[in-house]
Amino acid sequence: MITVKNLCKEFKNTDGTVTKVLKGINYEINKGEKIVIVGPSGSGKSTFLRCLNLMERPTSGQVIFDGVDITDRKVNINEVRERMGMVFQNFNLFNNLTVMQNIILAPVKLGIMTESEAKEKAKQLLERVNLLDKADVYPASLSGGQKQRIAIVRSLCMNPEVILFDEPTSALDPEMVGEVLDVMKKLADEGMTMVVVTHEMGFAKEVATKVLFVDEGNILEENTPKEFFENPQSKRLQDFLSKVL
Ligand code: ADP
Ligand code: MG
Repeated sequence: MITVKNLCKEFKNTDGTVTKVLKGINYEINKGEKIVIVGPSGSGKSTFLRCLNLMERPTSGQVIFDGVDITDRKVNINEVRERMGMVFQNFNLFNNLTVMQNIILAPVKLGIMTESEAKEKAKQLLERVNLLDKADVYPASLSGGQKQRIAIVRSLCMNPEVILFDEPTSALDPEMVGEVLDVMKKLADEGMTMVVVTHEMGFAKEVATKVLFVDEGNILEENTPKEFFENPQSKRLQDFLSKVL
């Protein structure tokens, strides 16, 4: 479904120097896979996700999505983003819109659904995450766990082919992590293709088809969860796991 070829991303600093964040990543994600990405802070995990859906334009290399190189300037970026959902650490809900307005904004504005179709779909999705009663409230009145479940629903309302999650539980109070992970597990069981950056190693063990260790802009290790956690090859991964497990 997604093939990443020699993906590099550099940022130019104000003093003219260049920070190389991604240093030639190669990877292939098949339909239905659940890829979990772990690694130290600042290693390039968010940048990698953002390059996948072109929120960041790669400096070089290719991202091939369903056979099309989406880094080609001729490709419509908005169309790509419609097909690749993204869920952020800080929810990114619009605080001046109700839950329902948040969910239907993109599909209606982009002409994918009529307002009544979008509302109908939103209701079904809200019901699935047990938040139908929150349709008409504003995000400020929700807990972090509720906000993140709404953000997932908003992403799902676009019928994406894959969803990218960037530390979806990192901003939550501990007692709310489980309710968000449960929604993600349900999605995984239903066959959704998912790429998840997370520090939740239990989720990785239970749900991942593959776990990637990203360190200093490279994929240093890639394995099934069992091998990844029981038999880490590099000293870097062994050290990392000894700190997080
Ligand atoms: P992670 O998600 O693994 O913590 P990031 O992808 O956010 O790492 O960041 C990797 C590196 O890239 C960091 O050193 C960060 O400071 C740098 N970086 C990320 N985004 C930008 C940007 N827009 N401009 C400059 N540097 C950036
Ligand atoms: Mg990050």
